[in-house]
Amino acid sequence: MQTIRGFRDILPENIALWQKVEKEATRLFKQFGYEEIRIPILEKTELFARSIGEVTDIVEKEMYTFADRKGDKLTLRPEATASIVRSYIQHKMYAAEPVRKFYTIGPMFRRERPQKGRYRQFYQIDAEVFGVESAYVDAELVFILNELFTALGLSDLKAHINSLGCAECRPSYQKALLDFISTKTEHLCENCLRRMDKNPLRILDCKVESCANALTDAPATLDHLCSACDDHFNTVKRALEQQNVAFTVDKSLVRGLDYYTRTAFEILTTNLGAQSAVAGGGRYDRLTEELGGPPTPAIGFAIGYDRLVEVMEALDNVPTPDVLDLFILTLGDDATHKGYIWASELNRMGLRCEVDYRGKSMKALMKRANKLNARHVLIVGEDELAKNALILRNMTTKEQTDIQVDQVVDTCLARLKP
Ligand code: AMP
Repeated sequence: MQTIRGFRDILPENIALWQKVEKEATRLFKQFGYEEIRIPILEKTELFARSIGEVTDIVEKEMYTFADRKGDKLTLRPEATASIVRSYIQHKMYAAEPVRKFYTIGPMFRRERPQKGRYRQFYQIDAEVFGVESAYVDAELVFILNELFTALGLSDLKAHINSLGCAECRPSYQKALLDFISTKTEHLCENCLRRMDKNPLRILDCKVESCANALTDAPATLDHLCSACDDHFNTVKRALEQQNVAFTVDKSLVRGLDYYTRTAFEILTTNLGAQSAVAGGGRYDRLTEELGGPPTPAIGFAIGYDRLVEVMEALDNVPTPDVLDLFILTLGDDATHKGYIWASELNRMGLRCEVDYRGKSMKALMKRANKLNARHVLIVGEDELAKNALILRNMTTKEQTDIQVDQVVDTCLARLKP
């Protein structure tokens, strides 16, 4: 049996970087006042269709959607924002305290063409802030990403930022865009022609070469912002400049989902060869209301966890493997029984300690201690037990000490606890 295409195991030998990322991310989130939220992996299809948008690549082509035994249409979540908005509304969080900052970490599912850095089950680290319209929150999210990636040793990073406007300025922009697009229809792919009426902004995100070429001079949202959006975007830029976050204004950044308004951003790196995004996000000031909640400004980001780990691997930024504090080398049944009792106690008290129960020879057990990277070995053979003098060997200095049988736990804890 094999995993299905685009799905993969992340094996223990590769987990160190994943854990390093998670530890650093949760530390930062805590410091910046973000609370963890856990949402289901399966939701009603309608949630994603309504939030991400009917005419987007995700909803049209990439979702894992199926009818369950009762015929309800369900979808494996392709992203986390929609579910967090649903949760915010469902639990009426806005009533008690409209300002909430969340993070969540977990798998997402999109049926894309698998390739390096692109999977059908992939992982995201996601943050969302509800109830604050201020541009400082936009800056804070980009700042947190910058902090996290810097702490993880990434250097070749650039934040691309854009503003997509709001309900006020979007209609006049869309008209300008449609006027432009209607002069280019002969160059556009079928998908774009179909999407033209429903959501012309999507066309700007089309990856087909002829479409991209035809649209290089298309009007940009940034040139059609109302004064409130303009002020908002200027505040984001001013804050990031002052915080020394490397960014560039990218008029062509529109992002592949419908719900974005105002600030949109991506963090790009060239570490995986071609430039690719390790994180993306933006404001979605209308989504909570569109899904049935009260008007609530909100903004969030998603980090591509798989890609982030791949970038770190490319940088050779792999943590050293864990060492074992103590290997208890036992010869004979009595020794192995004692070894088991001591090891459990030492494990409980915080020492990384192992026994091999397979009845191997002294030579084989020493080999295993080395393989496990043990810092110390306690030798418990019949002779040592008879003499009441067990040997504790420091594997680095080769220094040996005798320990009495009834002193094992106390002595090992006192000497070896990291
Ligand atoms: P998005 O939700 O599409 O904005 O994606 C946010 C981030 O998730 C992207 O910048 C990618 O790094 C990552 N990502 C999206 N789709 C995939 C995928 N199929 N496989 C791996 N990472 C992905």
